Amino acid sequence: MKELVKQLASKHTLDAPAMKQLLKCVAHDADTLQDLREMAVRTAHKQFGRGIYVRGLIELSSYCHRDCLYCGLRRSNTRAERYRLTQEEVLACCDEGYRLGFRTFVLQGGEDATHTDEWLEQLITRMRHRYPEAAITLSLGERSEASYRRLHQAGANRYLLRHEAANTELYDSLHPHGRGQQHRLNCVEALQRTGYQVGMGMMVGVKGQTLDHLTEDLLLMAHMRPEMVGIGPFIPHPATPLADEPAGALNLTLGTIAIARLLLPEALIPATTALATLSPTGRTEGILSGANVVMPNLSPVSVRAKYAIYENKASWGAEAAEGLAQLEKELHCIGYHIDYGRGDYGRGPTLLPDGQE
Ligand code: SAM
Ligand code: SF4
Repeated sequence: MKELVKQLASKHTLDAPAMKQLLKCVAHDADTLQDLREMAVRTAHKQFGRGIYVRGLIELSSYCHRDCLYCGLRRSNTRAERYRLTQEEVLACCDEGYRLGFRTFVLQGGEDATHTDEWLEQLITRMRHRYPEAAITLSLGERSEASYRRLHQAGANRYLLRHEAANTELYDSLHPHGRGQQHRLNCVEALQRTGYQVGMGMMVGVKGQTLDHLTEDLLLMAHMRPEMVGIGPFIPHPATPLADEPAGALNLTLGTIAIARLLLPEALIPATTALATLSPTGRTEGILSGANVVMPNLSPVSVRAKYAIYENKASWGAEAAEGLAQLEKELHCIGYHIDYGRGDYGRGPTLLPDGQE
């Protein structure tokens, strides 16, 4: 198995049978997982040094007209508490984040019909004027190509749209009334054409997912070469049809992140909130598997519990500042630090004035 890990690390590719074999091994064999994670960490160091980029996450709305089986915000969840932030509230979150040093803001939310192109264009334009040098990332689901173009022209730079499942049957089983997997992939391609830095990804351990499916996911991303890759464990939400399903396994999630790092050495890969929810050490374990980004929450404290995509979502401290101090401490313990740069794809680590990373 060491040979497969070496081959992946040097050639950044594996064929499907080898990939599946490696995934099978990382799920059960601690030595292989360790080898793989070490290689992934080495690869991440070469690209990014010991700096971890921070992105300030602003959860725009808990309204969603979609019905993804796994998500607590799905429209059929009548128990969900719904809210949407005003533009003034979003700008206040950004002001606080900017003051703390954040230079990327991520606007994420359910597919909320009130988020028209006009409304979002206005918000993005205001953010762009206020913080000319900051990156603006959107994660607002499936929209038309014209809409993606308009929001890009207003100043958005990046878009996170996980493909969720490369396997059509698995995708359809999780999104029974959706627009289908081909539509999702068309959206990803439209975003790439428009000029965004694009994020793909999937959950690990969602109902029905096999190692063959995960292999397909990894190979699809190796083929489409997204600039960002979001991989986290599935975590059940009690008011969804997947309430009684087990959460994704920690080791398989870490192994999948490590493989993604070796397939796409330059990709920006977060240690996800879902990973931090699954295990108290999830965030650092993610970084020690090749992740190089974390996304602290900048949403107003009053709405955080309402953005409940799964149960017991991890959240740092009551305030963003408190969360950052805690993050700095956690990172310091494993020999890392926060990099407050924008962290664009292909730029490498931000150099401090004295030339240190
Ligand atoms: N609505 C947008 C979308 O779906 O692309 C963005 C927000 S959505 C909550 C962001 C991501 O959360 C999804 O891509 C999905 O992979 C993840 N997610 C949803 N439910 C989850 C669950 N139960 N466990 C782990 N991740 C989940
Ligand atoms: Fe809506 Fe996104 Fe949740 Fe699906 S995953 S229900 S699109 S918020």
